[in-house]
Amino acid sequence: MTQIFNFSAGPAVLPKEVLQQAASEMLDWHGSGMSVMEMSHRGPEFSSIHRQALDDLRELLDVPANYKILFQQGGGLGQNAIVPLNLAGRRQDPVIDFVHTGSWSGKSIKEAARYARVNVAASSEAEGFARVPPRDSWRLSPDAAYLHICTNETIDGVEYPDAPRMDPMSDPDMPIVADMSSHILSRKIDVSKYGVIFAGAQKNIGPAGLTLVIVRDDLLDHASPQCPSAFHWKTCAEHDSLYNTPPTYAIYIAGLVFAWLKANGGVAAMEARNIEKAKLLYEALDRDDFYSNRVAPEFRSRMNVPFYLRDESLNQSFLAGAQARGLLQLKGHKSVGGMRASIYNAMPIEGVQALVDYLNEFAGR
Ligand code: PMP
Repeated sequence: MTQIFNFSAGPAVLPKEVLQQAASEMLDWHGSGMSVMEMSHRGPEFSSIHRQALDDLRELLDVPANYKILFQQGGGLGQNAIVPLNLAGRRQDPVIDFVHTGSWSGKSIKEAARYARVNVAASSEAEGFARVPPRDSWRLSPDAAYLHICTNETIDGVEYPDAPRMDPMSDPDMPIVADMSSHILSRKIDVSKYGVIFAGAQKNIGPAGLTLVIVRDDLLDHASPQCPSAFHWKTCAEHDSLYNTPPTYAIYIAGLVFAWLKANGGVAAMEARNIEKAKLLYEALDRDDFYSNRVAPEFRSRMNVPFYLRDESLNQSFLAGAQARGLLQLKGHKSVGGMRASIYNAMPIEGVQALVDYLNEFAGR
């Protein structure tokens, strides 16, 4: 069988070892006689799975003790509403600041506007989202409830190289909320620079249906009365994410992914590998003008690499040739067209090399 490499933006490739372990434990988890899917979320078997996943994630991301890790549902788009419902109440007549760097921060702005005033502090829309606007150009509100950023724009392929620098004099109490859906666990981050981090699981964590939320303790309890109890961070935290039935099987798979990450050197080792993978791919795209990526080099995403063929009439034949070689799901997002290669943690360097070989061969032909 042709070796398959899956470049989907999400739901995305998972480590083969994780899928193999899940398959071997599908019918009978550790001699319990039950599939994980059949277990009570409050029983001792699932409790041990849940606890281990939380401990491993805390270790992998070095999450400080004053942050809670919550497993919720509703995905990234769900959090676009859940975050303002939980945080806008920090202020009377709240305003929420945003930096608009692409499609996903754009959706967050639209959704938040249903719950509070929004201020787009900076936007790179006029430049086709080719960069993160320079920090000095951000017009932050003096008394915003929080600042929302999307640290990796999955569609536009724009990634923040670092956490934004905040000025302790002018914005001493401005929590940063970061949508890290498509690059969490791909690089080292300093969690303490953020008030809230959220991520849909279906890229670097596990199956769709699980949403990770990391919240600093002082931000847990500002929800507006309209916030649904099941999405109230404080309620979730007090019940250790078991207020309602959590997505148990997705948590189990996420736990296997965390164990796989630890066994493979943790986040630092992943980051080194991801730098190497991204370099290989961008170098191939930059070699001549047959392909192009429109993002300024210092903001190019290591996870999601959108690119265009100079002659777009070749798109179909490019995709068909890729498919025939086992290089799957390279079609770009419908809103921007072109191609996109998502090269998450579970994509081996061999997959990127196979894509690069194909890029060279196709351009040559
Ligand atoms: N934010 C980002 C950065 C994303 O990439 C996505 C999904 N691709 C979302 C939010 C939305 O996630 P969901 O579909 O899980 O609601």
